[in-house]
Amino acid sequence: MLERRPVFPNVIELNYQARRRLGCCVYLIYDKHDWLLIDIGYEDTVAEIIELIRQMGFPLAQCRYLVVTHADVDHVQGMARAKELLPEAKLVGHPGAAKLLAEGERISTYAEIAAQGISIDLPVINLDQTVTEGDILPIGDLQLAVWHTPGHTSSQLSFRLGDLLFSGDNIFRDGCVGNIDAHHGSDLPDFITSLERIRDSDVKWLLPSHGPIFRKDNRVLQSTIDRLTKYQHMADFGTCAIDWPLLDEWEDELVKGFDAQSPATKPSTTSI
Ligand SMILES: [Zn+2]
Repeated sequence: MLERRPVFPNVIELNYQARRRLGCCVYLIYDKHDWLLIDIGYEDTVAEIIELIRQMGFPLAQCRYLVVTHADVDHVQGMARAKELLPEAKLVGHPGAAKLLAEGERISTYAEIAAQGISIDLPVINLDQTVTEGDILPIGDLQLAVWHTPGHTSSQLSFRLGDLLFSGDNIFRDGCVGNIDAHHGSDLPDFITSLERIRDSDVKWLLPSHGPIFRKDNRVLQSTIDRLTKYQHMADFGTCAIDWPLLDEWEDELVKGFDAQSPATKPSTTSI
């Protein structure tokens, strides 16, 4: 039997378990004989991941849930294959993710980014159960609390287990966040609210969907919140921004007419 390398009691992360990068983070939470997986990654690593799990002594028939943090292809492409290998498991995620996956939607799942020549297979995935804010996923005697944390996408979920928050694409160790993109349903005010909720919570550890596990640090969270707060007023973020103060300044100046001598002609970045 393969030695288990839990990152916390009752939690194994498959990249840490394999001691190499497989793809997105895949968390296995277990208690008694029951276990679940949060995300699975791309299809080409599914067989390897499930073989690792089998070798660690987890009965495949005892997988209770295959959990989708959100519907992005790099998190869920392998879910249809995983469900074939783990037929007893219930596929669960947010109702918004359920809709995208049932429709095989390709734009907001990042399966198709035509402008960059990206086109990735995304099998239709039918969730067995939807969950959202306040729901509980039981595993043995453990209870995984569902948080709805929209922003990166409207159907982003996080999951709390004691001091741990499986935080999806909300924030990574370097303070980066999941892609902000209008075509993905990103929403900056919602994103800020979700990050504030994480900041104000008493969880101690963040277990993200990409990159290393890290301690919750409110200085890092605050600097990310401050950055996203600025994004709300920057043209760089297109229709994800809520306003662009420069256009208000321009309107005032239009009334007066152009004046090459005006100090206003000097570029300034003070508002960002
Ligand atoms: Zn992601």
